[in-house]
Amino acid sequence: MSNPNNPKTREWQAMSRDHHLAPFSDFKQLGEKGPRIITRADGVYLWDSEGNKILDAMAGLWCVAIGYGRKELADAASRQMQELPYYNLFFQTATPPALELAKAIAELTPAGMNHVFFTGSGSEGNDTMLRMVRHYWALKGKPGKQVIIARENGYHGSTVAGASLGGMKGMHEQGGLPIPGIVHIAQPYWFGEGGDMTPEAFGIWAAEQLEKKILEVGEENVAAFIAEPIQGAGGVIIPPDSYWPKVREILARYEILFVADEVICGFGRTGEWFGSDFFGNTPDMMTIAKGLTSGYVPMGGLVVRDEIVEVLNEGGDFNHGFTYSGHPVAAAVALENIRILREEKIVERVKAETAPYLQRRLRELADHPLVGEVRGIGMLGAIELVKNKQTRERYPSDKAAGMICRGHCFDNGLIMRAVGDTMIISPPLVISQAEIDELVEKARHCLDLTARALLA
Ligand SMILES: *Cc1c(COP(=O)(O)O)cnc(C)c1O
Repeated sequence: MSNPNNPKTREWQAMSRDHHLAPFSDFKQLGEKGPRIITRADGVYLWDSEGNKILDAMAGLWCVAIGYGRKELADAASRQMQELPYYNLFFQTATPPALELAKAIAELTPAGMNHVFFTGSGSEGNDTMLRMVRHYWALKGKPGKQVIIARENGYHGSTVAGASLGGMKGMHEQGGLPIPGIVHIAQPYWFGEGGDMTPEAFGIWAAEQLEKKILEVGEENVAAFIAEPIQGAGGVIIPPDSYWPKVREILARYEILFVADEVICGFGRTGEWFGSDFFGNTPDMMTIAKGLTSGYVPMGGLVVRDEIVEVLNEGGDFNHGFTYSGHPVAAAVALENIRILREEKIVERVKAETAPYLQRRLRELADHPLVGEVRGIGMLGAIELVKNKQTRERYPSDKAAGMICRGHCFDNGLIMRAVGDTMIISPPLVISQAEIDELVEKARHCLDLTARALLA
């Protein structure tokens, strides 16, 4: 955002440079360039402080499921703030919204998953998971089961446990991560890492890495396997069809817990309520956040299977919790968000109408000279930028093809995110067919501009 016209933009950018440290940012570079200032939003659109209207094909950070500007959520928050703005769930107290939300979540989650532990975020949900699974195994008389198997390039948040469970090398390099007791296996990313294997064969190979790791670490030491049904931040990585069935087969052979990180897939993004429903997986725990409140207020949680709750019930105090666990305002907003998702049949419409339409239109981009693959499920999509469509050869990383494309998108009123040279989208679940048309047309135009820039 160089040379803004609005003097307020300049003021805010100065505040950013002088006082703010932004997440996942190069502080100095951002200080020089200045952030784009987003000032308001409605439906699937954002407006910046320069008056530009932008189609937000990322739903914020994957979270604004029901779209921006739903007054009902503001009203729910306002009502709850006036009735009871805060009370906690510690020391044998509770609040109506937290309990009503726990019940509402249990009605949506897979059978046999009827309890939820509330947190302030997805990262805290995964921290809770780490402590709970180890506590569970200790109660079962198997305190040696400590190790959690996760995947390279997975994303599970930015707290110490979350970043350790995640498989992002750049995160591990800072702060001495991962913490002990967390190991990583290969990800099922055929387009990037499948080499000469067919997707099916690669999916089997990637699943077998789980069994290899269980045997290497020793079943008696393994507490759990955690995975996103579809990797989000890693680049909307959809495993080959062979992957999840093979993983289920392996998990059935060993006594370890299976944790689905549903922070992105949960609450309708795949066209089912949870990504686990979409793939037919039966996790023991599910981390939730993002779509739970449509991002209007922060909230996360960990959904736990009944058999595990039974064991925990015999274990005395679970010495863990957050000041804002089940915050009544967040819970009231989540309840209203869930009411809207259900009553307006938003998930059903995604499955029957808008996701098939988005996926069909998005795949039209596969004929573009710069595009090596288009993939997607539900309201998730990825476009792989390549130098050579046949060999899947990338542009050299110093060309920064993804960042060039992202820049053109921003300048042309579209937010797509770049993960390396993978362009990804995750629009609000309420996006209409006309807005999908606009998204795809803008994406094609920006691919053209990117191709031209790369050849120049
Ligand atoms: C965003 C995300 C998290 C972390 O959630 P926060 O609310 O940012 O802490 C965890 N897992 C997945 C899959 C995510 O996408």
